[in-house]
Parts: sequence; C-alpha cells; structure tokens
Amino acid sequence: MDNCKEIQCRIESFEHGNLSLKNEEAFTNHILNCADCREEMEIYYIISYGLDDDNEKKMENSKYSDYLDAFDFTGLVEQKLKDSEDKCLFLRQWTHFTRVRYIFVTAVMMLTALLLVIIKFF
Ligand SMILES: [Zn+2]
Repeated sequence: MDNCKEIQCRIESFEHGNLSLKNEEAFTNHILNCADCREEMEIYYIISYGLDDDNEKKMENSKYSDYLDAFDFTGLVEQKLKDSEDKCLFLRQWTHFTRVRYIFVTAVMMLTALLLVIIKFF
C-alpha cells in the first residue's frame, strides 16, 4: 500500500488503533517519508481536535494534549508516528520472543520424550 490515497484513507483507522501491525508499519513508514500525507494527517487532527474548544477530553493521553494546547499539530503528528514506530517495534520483538519461547518449549518436550524412551528401553 504505497498509494497516497489509500494511506490517507487509513488515517482515521490509525488514530483509533484499528490497523493491523503490518498495515500500521506500512502506514507509519509512508507518512514519515511523504510530505503530502503528513500534511493530510495534520489537517485531520486540526479538523478533529483543533476547531473545537472543549473536546480536550477526546485525547486520553496527556502527552498529546500538550501539543493540542500549543496548537502544534506538526509536533503532534511527529509524536504519534514516533509512538507508533515504538509500538510496532515492541510488538515485533514480542512476536519474535514468543516464537523463540515456543521453539524452546517444543525442544524441551521432545528431549523429555526422548529421555522417557531411553529410560524405558535401557
Ligand atoms: Zn503519501
């Protein structure tokens, strides 16, 4: 999904955390390297949060509220993308860790089985 239109359609899903890990990575990578889409994302936040005075509650994360208070939408987008990158990296490492652990558990189980066979027949 390298198409700008497709990416821009996913801004809302991104904001609500509805993208899969793979899609979110692609999304973040694209936005980081595409000025057009980044601008589009800023506009999205300006429309969603900037025009209304009393929807401070909408942003649960106080880290983001600071940007809103300062009307720093460029900063907000950068922060969001950075957090997304960190999240994807964490999830990727976690998936890797789970896989390694799975292989380890399987190996231990096979060794145990082997040991039982050895004990039984020798
Ligand atoms: Zn783009």
